[in-house]
This record gives sequence, structure tokens and C-alpha cells, in this order.
Amino acid sequence: MTDLRPLLKTILSSLVGPPAIGVVDSLYEKKNVNEFLIAKKLKLTINQTRNILYRLADSRLVSFIRKKDAKKGGWYTYFWTLSIAKSITSYQTILLTQQATLQEQIHSQKTGRFYTCVNCTVHLTEDQALLQDYVCAECGEVLTLRDTAPVIVEFEKELAKVQGTLSKVSGHLGNVHVADEKVRQRKIQAEIRKKAKERAVKRAVKAKERAKEKGLLKSMKKKVTHIFSRSKPQKKR
Ligand SMILES: [Zn+2]
Repeated sequence: MTDLRPLLKTILSSLVGPPAIGVVDSLYEKKNVNEFLIAKKLKLTINQTRNILYRLADSRLVSFIRKKDAKKGGWYTYFWTLSIAKSITSYQTILLTQQATLQEQIHSQKTGRFYTCVNCTVHLTEDQALLQDYVCAECGEVLTLRDTAPVIVEFEKELAKVQGTLSKVSGHLGNVHVADEKVRQRKIQAEIRKKAKERAVKRAVKAKERAKEKGLLKSMKKKVTHIFSRSKPQKKR
């Protein structure tokens, strides 16, 4: 499978900054990693480390289990796992929002009219320009229609970049889902096998019990008939 570490580092960094690199390296392809190990890797105190991990957990990019630790005076130790699918999905959502915003901006630049002052660097929408009678509020110069072509070019470049990342991210997410689904199916199959085994054991136990009961009944019947045959009153002749 593709190494998702660079992507995950980008995603987690957007939330917690540079320590994300160490977090990803500590948790990638592992499960329930002791937080003291992570702190050591990050070269941070346990509190600083927890602070970072809690922030990631708030956004559900990592998950944890906790265990009471007798060696740590009965305090809880947290064990952390990276939520890869959730992390990539969050990132995908951010990219989709960026894409929508850029598309909206491009549309607005293509369809609307914008004004500018040749002396000052003010940019106004048609409504704003109308409100001040198409005159610059700073210097009194008559506003001119702004050429939006260069702005559109910039937005389109940005959009292409976002869409490129988005298609890569979606591809990765598809792979993660396929891998997760395989794990899920394996778990289900194992569960089915376990249940079948349990049922077989139960059946065997029941069969044994029934056999025992049958045997007991038989021997009881024998005893009873034996008693009866013994205690049968003799017919008087
Ligand atoms: Zn001006």
C-alpha cells in the first residue's frame, strides 16, 4: 500500500503544526501506542504531548484507550491510534470547501463588474462603487472598471492545484476504505467461525447430556421394572 505518511503529516500539521511529523511517525501502521513513547519521540513533556494529542482527538484524527497504570501510582496511561480514514476525510472536506470557494470567486469575477482607483489600491464591487458615485473615497479620482482577467487566471491556477490534490486524496481514501473493508470482512468471518464453533461445542455438550439422561432413564426403568417384578404380589392359587 502507498505510504500515506507525507499526506498525513500535511493534514495533522494543519492542526498542530510541526509536532505532527513526530506524531505520524510514532503512530503510523501501529495501534494503541503508549503516550510516554510518543513524548519521547517528540522530545516533549508528557503534558505537552497530551495537549497535542487531545487537540488531534478533538478533530477525531486520533483515538485513544486508557488503562490504569499501577506503576504510575494508579494514574491513567493513554494509548493512541491514528485514524487514517477520518484524517483523510477531514482533509478532503477542507479541499472541497476550498474548491467551492474558488469556483464561486471565479464565477463572480467572470460575471460581476469591479472597480478600482488608478491612484490608490482600492478594489470595489459594483454596489460599493455605486454607493460612492463611482468616485474614489480616498482621493476623489473617478473609478475605472477593473480588468479581472489576471485575477481569474490566478484563481484558476489555485483551483487546478486544489483539484489535483483532491483527486490524489480521493484515490488514497478509496484505497484506505478498501483496506478497512478487508479488515472488517476478515473480522466478520472470524466472528462467524467463532460463533459456529461455539454452537458446535454447545450441541456436543447437549448431546452428551441427552445421552446421559437417556442412559439414566434406561437404567432407572430397569430398576423400576426390577422392583415391580420383585414386589409383584403373587397370585393366590
Ligand atoms: Zn483613489
